[in-house]
Amino acid sequence: NSFMELNLSRPLLRACEALGYTKPTPIQAACIPLALTGRDICASAITGSGKTAAFALPALERLLFRPKRVKAVRVLILTPTRELAVQVHSMIEKIAQFTDIRCCLIVGGLSTKVQEVALRSIPDIVVATPGRMIDHLRNSMSVDFEDLAVLILDEADRLLELGFSAEIHELVRLCPKRRQTMLFSATMTEEVDELIQLSLVKPLRLSA
Ligand code: AMP
Repeated sequence: NSFMELNLSRPLLRACEALGYTKPTPIQAACIPLALTGRDICASAITGSGKTAAFALPALERLLFRPKRVKAVRVLILTPTRELAVQVHSMIEKIAQFTDIRCCLIVGGLSTKVQEVALRSIPDIVVATPGRMIDHLRNSMSVDFEDLAVLILDEADRLLELGFSAEIHELVRLCPKRRQTMLFSATMTEEVDELIQLSLVKPLRLSA
């Protein structure tokens, strides 16, 4: 029951150590090995369970292990609120500290121009709220998701409660069909189930 047993590469193990993580939380122990197989995952997990590292570590492992020759956004993480996006982005930066993986934050309330420049430089990972992400895709054409490998829907129940259903469906349509999708939700409502049907393929279900 240690991160060593999870088949993560050296820079990610070093980051866990630097963060003071000695052993995986239950959701991490359940999610990381399954996510590393490339299967779609849907997990019931609340804030505080360690869910961010549960999806971030395997997503980063995939970027390290299967790099692309062309520069492209490879991972998109959608969160319901600006606050959560800021937290997820900060966690990714910490987990990626010993790699050259670059992550960019796209949320309302910050300068669109600055974000446009960041997107044009083609980060590996984008953490975004759906509204602002759509604005960039519609107005500035500064980014595309044609080479996306992993889509993560964080706090899916709240994404839907906050009325982002149309935006999420539009974003899912812009992602390649062949991708890994991971969905995390505190509650599994009918609406969340519908989203799972539409955006995941034969998902493995986890709860912790
Ligand atoms: P989250 O549920 O992702 O919001 O994480 C909640 C808190 O747990 C954050 O402050 C993380 O830094 C921390 N955390 C995540 N994974 C571990 C771990 N394996 N060991 C100790 N703390 C952790």
